[in-house]
Amino acid sequence: MSTTALKIAALAGDGIGPEIMREAIKVLRAIQKKHAVPLEITEAPVGWDAIDKQGEALPANTLALCKKSGAILLGAVGLHYRDSAVPKEKRPERAALLRLGKQFDLYANLRPVKLPPVLAHLCPLRPERQGDGIDITVVRESTGGLYYAYPRKTEDVLEVKEPGIPTQRVARAVDTMALTATEIERIAHVAFRAAWLRRKKVTSVDKANILETSILWREVVTEVSRQYPQVTLEHMLVDTAATQLMLQPTRFDVILCENTFGDILADEAAALVGSVGMLPSASIGEPRQGRTFGLYKPAGGSAPDIAGKNVANPIALILAAALMLRYSFGLDPRARTIENAVAKVIADGYRTQDICRLTEAKDRPVSTSEMGDAIADAI
Ligand code: NAD
Repeated sequence: MSTTALKIAALAGDGIGPEIMREAIKVLRAIQKKHAVPLEITEAPVGWDAIDKQGEALPANTLALCKKSGAILLGAVGLHYRDSAVPKEKRPERAALLRLGKQFDLYANLRPVKLPPVLAHLCPLRPERQGDGIDITVVRESTGGLYYAYPRKTEDVLEVKEPGIPTQRVARAVDTMALTATEIERIAHVAFRAAWLRRKKVTSVDKANILETSILWREVVTEVSRQYPQVTLEHMLVDTAATQLMLQPTRFDVILCENTFGDILADEAAALVGSVGMLPSASIGEPRQGRTFGLYKPAGGSAPDIAGKNVANPIALILAAALMLRYSFGLDPRARTIENAVAKVIADGYRTQDICRLTEAKDRPVSTSEMGDAIADAI
């Protein structure tokens, strides 16, 4: 084991952020102790917490800490009831989250969705559709595509209705879907590498029967796949993918898609698990010298409705910490240690309120901190 410190910027943020961060750090400390992993965890403010303490959502000292760290672990930012107090561009979602994404060119978003069979009752699908459990990772291009390409504008144009009828001015809005071969190539590599660590199948989603970007997407992804002969590639149209996620979710391993398609499909896949409190998210950049910088957080937000009550589910952030060990620090076995510990406490019946049904005989209601204790003990 290398003794070079693995530097983590821990930004708890707003709402449930501090509560779930406490538990994620508890679990990382358990890994550090049991497996002698040289973690160096430094906490700093972000979001409204940082606005209150230092006047801005991403203060210079927090950004400086992120720059000298190997990864960022983030609880949540944003409290919508405070939004009117500051202009849009100063709000935490833009001034902190988007800014961090741009600063570190975090072009790949990974959203694993896992439903263990013991939580099958949380899934809206009938049991026979769930097979031995759902386990999908959505890999989404997240700095290009329809959400970022130009031109994007609303303009007045002259509309000709019928010959002889005077033209009239009408508003017309334009968005652009554009991707370069380089952007497609780098996100495809992320998907194939992720599949290689999993069940070795990539489903590349596009709309190649209509969109130019999708035709290029399909060509480039097929080309990249030649470098990963152990990984099976299938192409699927986005509408078929939306249907198949509901009918046959177990056929998917890694789903690779453009920004907008991924935004929609990742949330559709998330619905299969029943609670956003179980779902981690990783945003990663280009690997450099064997290391990949990343920002790891729960898929959900700051959950102000349950903040401060010690009832939030810390599993999303704990699983995000596992992704951080896997993708930023190359510690796949330790990531699995955390994932196995989570699986064990779930199998043992530990349930925060979002996943507790009490109709299940085994369910054992626990608080945020009790869930963190149980997972740390299982390491
Ligand atoms: P949300 O994800 O915070 O909450 C939606 C619902 O899910 C709520 O009922 C909440 O209680 C529940 N929930 C979320 N996380 C949970 C957990 N760990 N355990 C148990 N239940 C959980 O979404 P929202 O209410 O629409 O947004 C609240 C704020 O969070 C907004 O300001 C939004 O902009 C922000 N937000 C931040 C992020 C982020 O930091 N990455 C992501 C999404 C939303």
